[in-house]
Amino acid sequence: MQSPFRVCEKVYMVGSADISSGMDCCVYLVDAGELVLIDAGAGGSTDKLIVNIQALGFMPEQLTTLIITHAHIDHIGSAADLRDRFNLRVIAHAEDSAAIESGKKVGAEHYGVRYRPCPVDEKLAGQLNERFIGSTKFSFMYVPGHTPGSMVVTIESEGKKVLFGQDIHGPYMPMWGGDPQLAAISLERIMQIEADILCEGHYGAIKPADEVKQFISEFLDELKS
Ligand SMILES: [Zn+2]
Repeated sequence: MQSPFRVCEKVYMVGSADISSGMDCCVYLVDAGELVLIDAGAGGSTDKLIVNIQALGFMPEQLTTLIITHAHIDHIGSAADLRDRFNLRVIAHAEDSAAIESGKKVGAEHYGVRYRPCPVDEKLAGQLNERFIGSTKFSFMYVPGHTPGSMVVTIESEGKKVLFGQDIHGPYMPMWGGDPQLAAISLERIMQIEADILCEGHYGAIKPADEVKQFISEFLDELKS
């Protein structure tokens, strides 16, 4: 396994196929004065995620919030464990909350893992939400298409827009809960954020802005073709 690392000021990667478990999505840590996690891996690596947070010099006890971008097992597996252990506030979009809370249609069977359902403390509704967590403003944009309740999260760091886009690459097939037509509309909207850094769910951190644009447009072109 490789080591966790800093992506930019405030943002660190603490989980991924290379740094926590082969089944995990990319898990990002935001140092907002208090600690915020974006997504939670497939579930078998809770201890490793905690060790990785410590390895970067942070105290996991400072975790207050877990933001879930969408209800797929590789993004939510450790959510319940982390919420219990650190008394985290879990935020997700309302449209994916039933899946997170029930475990239905999260894809656990495809990964051969058992999912422990996790309560969602704050269910976001509507297209756009903004709120401060610690000292950092988080913007949540509803982007259905990969799942019915997918969302992306944007923060500013050193004057740069950091976009937690997670599964920009899809898949967008209905068999995985996707909707290609909605996804195309959502990718257009994500493109308009004009992010400088894209923290992707499986491809790692992509920068600068023109690389981000290129990455998103590749998948948008695929959807339109
Ligand atoms: Zn996914």
